[in-house]
Amino acid sequence: MSKICLIYTGGTIGMVRDESGELRPPDDPKDFLQLAPELIDVTEFDFVPVMNKDSTNINHRDWTIMAQAIGERMTSGYDGFVIAHGTDTMHFSASAVAFALGTNLPCPVVFTGAQTAPAISHGDARVNLLRACEIAKMDLGEVVISFGEFVFRGCRAQKKNEARFDAFESPAQYPLGFIMEKIELNPGAKRKGSSLPEMATNRFADGVLQFSLIPGLEAELLIPAIEKEGCKGVILQSFGAGNVPDADPYSLIPLIERCVKMQKPVIVTSQFPANSTLHTAYAPGRRAVEAGAIPTSNMTGSCAAAKFRWALAQAEGANDPAAIVDKVMSTVYVDEMDPIDRSSHMGGKL
Ligand code: ASP
Repeated sequence: MSKICLIYTGGTIGMVRDESGELRPPDDPKDFLQLAPELIDVTEFDFVPVMNKDSTNINHRDWTIMAQAIGERMTSGYDGFVIAHGTDTMHFSASAVAFALGTNLPCPVVFTGAQTAPAISHGDARVNLLRACEIAKMDLGEVVISFGEFVFRGCRAQKKNEARFDAFESPAQYPLGFIMEKIELNPGAKRKGSSLPEMATNRFADGVLQFSLIPGLEAELLIPAIEKEGCKGVILQSFGAGNVPDADPYSLIPLIERCVKMQKPVIVTSQFPANSTLHTAYAPGRRAVEAGAIPTSNMTGSCAAAKFRWALAQAEGANDPAAIVDKVMSTVYVDEMDPIDRSSHMGGKL
């Protein structure tokens, strides 16, 4: 029989509703196992509760705890890992864990969760758990999200709906698999690696500020925050394909230049699901890159945020931290984005 490591972090998939109607994690994480008693007929498993949180409260240190819990058990003979997680930030955690574990995994690492608590009999908690366990037994060597009828590459997925059972999407990449009576993985899914993965760092830096742009955003309101010592890097969540205001008095170009001078890297993401490419032909986007902002290709915003913390952690203590962040952000590690052609962001000036 197969053997799975079931890592529990919390989320609606294990939650109970109290008398006031509030949904909260169970007092004892072991209660989670009542969700699908038939699991013992499907697979042997070890249950490893690492936290018991609404995923709204999961932070970047928790990503390290998850990656460590998986990494140190990678050679323990499991067929795969299932991570039960809240849906609100599952896509951040799946991206972060993918970076920390690296490529060529010897077995699948399958995140799942649910839109409804176990008490809802027609809901998705039980079925999503059982489906994730089936996927964890397959020939798959990467971090994925299994949810509803789909398997997505973890670092390409994002939440798209807060109630429907098809809660996730992968805006710039076709799903890796479809869950039907037979679970079909498409040829793009990475199969089990034969060697042990090369673990990169599993640390994620503090000090990331993200600003979601609105028309008329005043740079001077943001400057005190970026100048704080604790600020290590800035994410500008731009309009459309990386376009950042460049016309006075609301130009953010001087803010980018100021950050770059302070060795605080700036990355540009999009407020929209990154589509086939986050590549801009418009002057305001190109000026941001010329000023030193780092484009993020078609990465989702959540993946870019996780990767940025990971890049900043690798740059800590280096002589030229900005250069390291730039290099890490521009390198493709776990197929999180299509390769960046930086010159195309600068009108061929590179
Ligand atoms: N707030 C919950 C969480 O992320 C939502 C869910 O799990 O669906 O933990």
